[in-house]
Amino acid sequence: MTLDSPVRRIVIVGGGTAGWMAAAALARLIPTGASVTLIESDTIGTVGVGEATIPPIRAFNAMLGIDEAAFLAATAGSFKLGIEFVDWGAIGERYLHPFGGFGFDIEGVRFHQHWRRRRAAGVVEDIDAYSLCAVAARAGRFAPPSPDPASILSQMAHAYHFDAGLYAQFLRGRAERDGVIRIEGEIGDVALDGDTGHVRHVTLAGDRRIEGDLFLDCSGFRGLLIEQALGAGYEEWTQWLPCDRAIAMPTANTGTAITPYTRSTAREAGWQWRIPLQHRTGNGYVYSSAHISDEDAQATLLATVEGLPLADPRRLSFVTGRRKRFWNRNVVALGLSGGFLEPLESTSIHLIQTGIAKLLALFPDRRFLQVEAGEYDRLMGSAYDGVRDFIILHYHATTRDDSPFWNHVRTMTVPDSLRRKTELFRAKGRFFRYDDELFSLASWVAVMLGQGVTPEGYDPIVDGLDERKLVEAVERMRLGIRQTIAQMPSQSEYIRAHCAAI
Ligand SMILES: Cc1cc2nc3c(=O)[nH]c(=O)nc-3n(C[C@H](O)[C@H](O)[C@H](O)COP(=O)(O)OP(=O)(O)OC[C@H]3O[C@@H](n4cnc5c(N)ncnc54)[C@H](O)[C@@H]3O)c2cc1C
Repeated sequence: MTLDSPVRRIVIVGGGTAGWMAAAALARLIPTGASVTLIESDTIGTVGVGEATIPPIRAFNAMLGIDEAAFLAATAGSFKLGIEFVDWGAIGERYLHPFGGFGFDIEGVRFHQHWRRRRAAGVVEDIDAYSLCAVAARAGRFAPPSPDPASILSQMAHAYHFDAGLYAQFLRGRAERDGVIRIEGEIGDVALDGDTGHVRHVTLAGDRRIEGDLFLDCSGFRGLLIEQALGAGYEEWTQWLPCDRAIAMPTANTGTAITPYTRSTAREAGWQWRIPLQHRTGNGYVYSSAHISDEDAQATLLATVEGLPLADPRRLSFVTGRRKRFWNRNVVALGLSGGFLEPLESTSIHLIQTGIAKLLALFPDRRFLQVEAGEYDRLMGSAYDGVRDFIILHYHATTRDDSPFWNHVRTMTVPDSLRRKTELFRAKGRFFRYDDELFSLASWVAVMLGQGVTPEGYDPIVDGLDERKLVEAVERMRLGIRQTIAQMPSQSEYIRAHCAAI
């Protein structure tokens, strides 16, 4: 086979968020004009959660030509400017991990270093006061980012909260219009080629066979092709991320304005999410079954949600970790079939997006060159590993000692990559981003400081700067942010005017 052996038939197994994101993207962007068929089972259904996202989703939507207002109206979505963490570093403490940066660099030196110097002198506010997104989030306000780099509004960075079911439906409509063929049915059998070990076809009830050149496994936790048929292997991370269960339950909105941020509240054996949408609030308790019973976790959730329940609590089980290989023979795993990091930083949908982007960048022909699959595995492995360390940081950097769960995560041995980062930051607030990792300096600064990892010193280069000029610049930033926020509409006003749910 040679370069003129393009992939002609793509089969997507699964119609959850991963399946429909892949279908919508491939139908539009596939380089070879291949057919795209998606198989999903209404009987099995989808995982049905996954409501909070991070800013790169805007690039995915833009790539598909999706209009923001139409998308938010169709998914009952709201704007997200960050995550509020409650009781994480210690009970009674709260902090924001806002999107966007903190202040501006001054004379090439990172803003947080200047802030640290001024803070050491005891004269500045919390670093949040220098983040446009943090101040807007606390004030419940929203305005879209400005394309003008001279405008302070260019610092706005946002993502969305949305109804995962409505998002899949929205993408399905677009994908089908772009030619994707949807087949409803349950796959009973996966046939492998005797010579190559590639998946040749999948079989539905009534012995209906669907053949393909390239298969995308979007079948969720079960990993129907990548694991059950091809045995790619799974690298477990439960020693660092022991939460393995979740109970989800939507509630009615309570009349107060919807907040433009997700809230994550640490609990006895895990944490609880609160995700405000236009028509309801998503809630759930993510917990370690070794540290609390399902019944007690459910009781905690029911006792702490704010509005009236709109459905019965739903239980989910998972094992944190990732596939050893995401691309095996002619199968690429996307979404939960590729791995799962708990939803603390809303990264799963982003990792689907990353997987699709890398697949397009390494799109194979029917020879399925090992060098392309290997590169894909390397890139995706490193994407998962970087997110893993960031999530572990939230658990480990804490003074909480009020339950066996917190004693375990506080005292556990963390990966070396995270230990190095934490020690470097604790010394002089320094940080280096590894291998294209997802979270930026600003995110690490927010979570390190929020969880109580305070730098003992600051970069000595800061002392070379004129103190008077520094004081003026820092104060100008703070006032500029306050004035900009004062002119923004509330998020509720903005939604009513631009993207109210249909
Ligand atoms: C508790 C929890 C909270 C989460 N919160 C967030 C969040 O806030 N933000 C975020 O980004 N992510 C979140 N996630 C992750 C997010 O839900 C998933 O990444 C996303 O929904 C993608 O799921 P999926 O499409 O891979 O799998 P699923 O939704 O499980 O879809 C699997 C599909 O495969 C089909 N299928 C399976 N077997 C067969 C078969 N034999 N035959 C035919 N079809 C089959 C099913 O019918 C279904 O269509 C959360 C996950 C959990 C568990």
